[in-house]
Amino acid sequence: MKEYLVYINGNFVPRSQATVSVFDHGFLYGDGIFEGIRSYEGNVFCLREHIKRLYESAKSILLDIPMTPKEMEEAIVETLQRNSLANAYIRVIVSRGNGDLGLDPRSCIHPNVIIIAEALAIFPKEFYEKGLRIATVPTRRNIPDALNPKIKSLNYLNNILIKLEATQAGVFEALTLTQDGYVCEGSGDNVFIVKNGKIITPPTYLGALEGITRNIVIELCENLGIPCKEEPFTRHDVYVADEIFLTGTAAEMIPVIEVDSRIIGEGKPGPVTKQIITEFRKQTKVRGTKVPGLSPLTA
Ligand code: PMP
Repeated sequence: MKEYLVYINGNFVPRSQATVSVFDHGFLYGDGIFEGIRSYEGNVFCLREHIKRLYESAKSILLDIPMTPKEMEEAIVETLQRNSLANAYIRVIVSRGNGDLGLDPRSCIHPNVIIIAEALAIFPKEFYEKGLRIATVPTRRNIPDALNPKIKSLNYLNNILIKLEATQAGVFEALTLTQDGYVCEGSGDNVFIVKNGKIITPPTYLGALEGITRNIVIELCENLGIPCKEEPFTRHDVYVADEIFLTGTAAEMIPVIEVDSRIIGEGKPGPVTKQIITEFRKQTKVRGTKVPGLSPLTA
């Protein structure tokens, strides 16, 4: 089997040898940030937007990424080229780096910059054709005053607890609520509801990640003339929605057909969701950064 190369601080290392120290504060404390990016037939979808979010996350936690956004873009492109990967999931990680056992990041001299690219593991077709059953779960979203979910940090324990509770509830994904009981997002995706032809998604100040896919969907709605608002809503609004869908880089857009045993709409992916998915998929081939020298059929 082909062994992919992982970028670590400027070097390309075979996956089986791609390691960081146990003294990396990313490992010790979740001190670091990351991005999940997707490449479609040699087009890295919204690469600049992902890099922008990465650098904003870094700024917020006072982490100096030891390269410019342009250099980061080039490193990501080179990682795909070296691995001959046209259709890939790309994970960029910048950790605080190796330090001592104390919390203080000042003991960490060099951040570790890691880029992993893999052949894409696509979600089951059934999710898109039939839609997902999901549930709300007891764990609330982190409050933005404590750890702002707009920072895509390596501290994903809140999301992991939410995912575990989804699994325990026998569903693939969960909806998490804010402290005040408003719907926030999924464990790793944003949520949209459709009611009477209008679309609503929770504002990010409630504690949702400002998803790149979410932003594209909002923009597509504008172009398609579908009213779309960022507004708080409750579980009740979810239960009585006509359609629901989740958005994320890996998932793209997945229709939801059941929440907490309530059937949504007609219990199958709805027309508005389908229309936006079709438009979204057109964008994935054109919007972003082309990787030179890759055949679309490479992987
Ligand atoms: N919310 C969370 C918590 C996420 O981790 C992600 C990314 N997987 C998203 C939303 C979706 O963001 P994007 O569309 O940028 O992938």
